[in-house]
Amino acid sequence: MDDLRDLYQQLILDHNRNPQNFRDMQNATATANGHNPLCGDEIKLFLNVENDQILDISFKGSGCAISKASASIMTTLIKGKTVAETESLFARFHTMITTGEIIGDIGKLAVLAGVYKFPSRVKCASLSWHTMNNALHGKENLTTTE
Ligand code: ZN
Repeated sequence: MDDLRDLYQQLILDHNRNPQNFRDMQNATATANGHNPLCGDEIKLFLNVENDQILDISFKGSGCAISKASASIMTTLIKGKTVAETESLFARFHTMITTGEIIGDIGKLAVLAGVYKFPSRVKCASLSWHTMNNALHGKENLTTTE
């Protein structure tokens, strides 16, 4: 379990105690709620998307260190990105946390690379991403795949 302790330590130091973009958003163009019943993680995600670009992103909620740190890191990485760039990053992040394989530059998300070794934690790490993806696609038809 030492690996898990290391994982937590890094995450707690970096983001759990001081999460980035942890706030409401008055001018959100899309929101979504996420819930991970296995762990009890809850998140509300806010997006401000204009012309296919994510101008602002924030979140609220409560959860374990991994879910909170993952959400915090996600917001810092995708703010300013296009929807297509965000989806590409999500796909690579998902591959990483389920297989351990890192494809291309994933920035600070690398801190979560060890999650794949703990299947019960994968949902904690991916909750914010799935919620963000739901917010993106639940409103205004912003799908840019295909
Ligand atoms: Zn959790």
